[in-house]
This record gives sequence, C-alpha cells and structure tokens, in this order.
Amino acid sequence: MGQAIQLAKKTESIQKGQTNFDINDFDLNDSDREDFDNYVDILFVLDQSGSMSTYIKQAKQTICKIVEKFKNKEYDLKFSLCTYIDHTPQSEMLTDFTDLCSGYQIVQKLHTVIATGGGDIPEAVMDGLRDGITKTSWRKTVIGKEEKSQRFLFHICDAPPHGEEYGFLSSDKQWSINGCPCGTKREDIKNLLQLHDIQYFLIKPNHAISKMEQLFKECFGDYFKDTINLSENFQQKDNKTQMWEGVLSNIEKNVS
Ligand SMILES: [Zn+2]
Repeated sequence: MGQAIQLAKKTESIQKGQTNFDINDFDLNDSDREDFDNYVDILFVLDQSGSMSTYIKQAKQTICKIVEKFKNKEYDLKFSLCTYIDHTPQSEMLTDFTDLCSGYQIVQKLHTVIATGGGDIPEAVMDGLRDGITKTSWRKTVIGKEEKSQRFLFHICDAPPHGEEYGFLSSDKQWSINGCPCGTKREDIKNLLQLHDIQYFLIKPNHAISKMEQLFKECFGDYFKDTINLSENFQQKDNKTQMWEGVLSNIEKNVS
C-alpha cells in the first residue's frame, strides 16, 4: 500500500510537467525514405495504463524528433508500436499493435492512444514486449544486399511486470507467485531479442521499475543496451526534452 501511494504521488508530480505538443510543429510528410537502402526498424513498446499520459505525449514528440533528425541522413526509417495494459479482470485491453510504417503514420496512431486503467500496479509488460517483437515485420533483406535492418526496441513504462520478484504485488495472488498469467517470462523475451537481433533500451521515468531493470539487464545480457533515465533532476531539468534527447543519442551511437 505504501508503495502504491508513493507511486501515485510520483505520477502526479510527473504529470505537472505535462507539455502542450502540436504535431504540426514538425515536418513529417517526407518521412518515408524508401529510396535509401539503410533500413532502420524502430519498435516502441508503450505501457498505456492510466499514469502514462505524460509519456505518451513525450513518445509522440520523440518520434517526431527522430524523423526530423534522420531526414537529412540516408536511412529508410520505419516504426512499429505495441501498447499494452493488462490481462482481465485488471483491464479490457491486453495489447494493441501497429506494424512498421512511416513516422507520420505512427504519430497519427499515437494521437489515438489514451492512457487509461490498469487496476493493480503491475501491468502486462511481458505481453507488450512479446507481441511487439513477434508481430513486427522486421525487414530481412535490403535490395541487392544480404543485410537485415538495424533494429531497436524502446520500452517506455512506469510499472513492472507481474511477479513479486519485480517488487510489487498483484491483486491476484497467483499472478504474484507465478508471474504474468500468460506464462511469458523474461527469458522468453531475451530469446526473442536474440532471434531477431534487436537492441533493447529502457526508458525509465521512476524507481518503480528499478527491480525490473536489474532483472532484465541480467537476463538480456548484451541485448540490453541502455537505460534512458527520465527521473534524474526531474524538477530542475527541462523534462520535455529528456526522452527524445536520450533516444536520439542512443540511435546515433548504435546505428552503423
Ligand atoms: Zn501476460
């Protein structure tokens, strides 16, 4: 209970940093760069439960910034999106998926995403990651080359998966003991990252997911590339820019 109140307070303080964001501030019309043969596929996996509204706005802004930034570079960028809430009865919605499309299309899609519900603190993190990775049509062959796309997964969430090892109890005791009711474990996610050769990045707004971060790091090994921390100096720093700065610098570092 104490943890729940702490998390709620944290969320409230973060929401005060909310920003008005207008898609028209960005020039996204030319985001399809199919004339280039460097494929970069970017999957966003996004917790869509109630406390996430601030970050959904930031995610939109982040995608716009990526598109703008890479416009003058010779990359063919595509984005997919998997949002998740939780298994019933905690939520009516488990996951919602949009396959690889242009930056403009994915931002349009994000405009329809409303952060809502979720019940207890843990959410269907495993389902979001699993569905996002398995449903994305990762591009396999660049024309005339034997190369796959370069693949990035950015995971944005403020709550851990089910399972008490992640630090929070679920309403359903069995979920606390056994983990997510679908049976997907972090080892399964690691195998999927490996199978599709995807670099995983965690975008971390608070400490509720510190335990998850640590367990994912140990499990994913080299596939866990970095954590983008949004909570440090939260009051002092202009948080509106933190997410896209972190995402952009990581893509630039890792795209070859
Ligand atoms: Zn599940």
